[in-house]
Amino acid sequence: MARTFTEPELVIATHNPGKLREIADLLAPFGTKVLSAGELGLPEPVEDEDTFIGNALIKARAAVQGSGKPALSDDSGLVVPALGGQPGIHSARWAGPEKDFDLAMEKVWTELGDGDRRAHFACALALCWPDGGAETFEGTVYGTLVWPPRGDKGFGYDPMFIPDGHAITFGEFEHAEKHTISHRATAFRKLVQACFQP
Ligand code: IMP
Repeated sequence: MARTFTEPELVIATHNPGKLREIADLLAPFGTKVLSAGELGLPEPVEDEDTFIGNALIKARAAVQGSGKPALSDDSGLVVPALGGQPGIHSARWAGPEKDFDLAMEKVWTELGDGDRRAHFACALALCWPDGGAETFEGTVYGTLVWPPRGDKGFGYDPMFIPDGHAITFGEFEHAEKHTISHRATAFRKLVQACFQP
């Protein structure tokens, strides 16, 4: 059985403003005070595992170590089977040091060529406590890649991804609507059910 989260504060172990906003939105109903790794001046650890879960654990444990408080991390990315699963765990890296996602999306589209446009977003969440306890959860959303990118409401690869059953890209989704079906929302539902329910 998963461990219940009862602490008043939680560090969100991300320096990505898009993820921070989405995670804060998803946690809002639980009244937990959320602190970001950025505002605490925590460094970004090297993510050298080869799975989303492995890298999520690295980030959450680094934030616990730096803050002395429990921490929640998200490791996520766009998986394109026709590209052998890339950019996958390297999704942030494909945007380069400038974090230029126009460039990263163009790279995906160019490398894909006439290949199969099916893709999915994957999200791993890791919740870690200062005593070494840890819980992990995963979520996925399947869809199709499109070109040119559309919409400016999301972040990362959102503008080139149409989730199954919809006609618009995640970049065109309202935030609240994305939160009902995204990979992050699915992983969150599992986290909340396991750790945040009274
Ligand atoms: P990391 O988990 O910090 O290594 O970065 C994951 C990268 O995957 C992000 O920088 C985004 O580019 C991409 N990504 C993860 N989740 C989403 C999403 O919900 N929409 C669009 N891109 C995402």
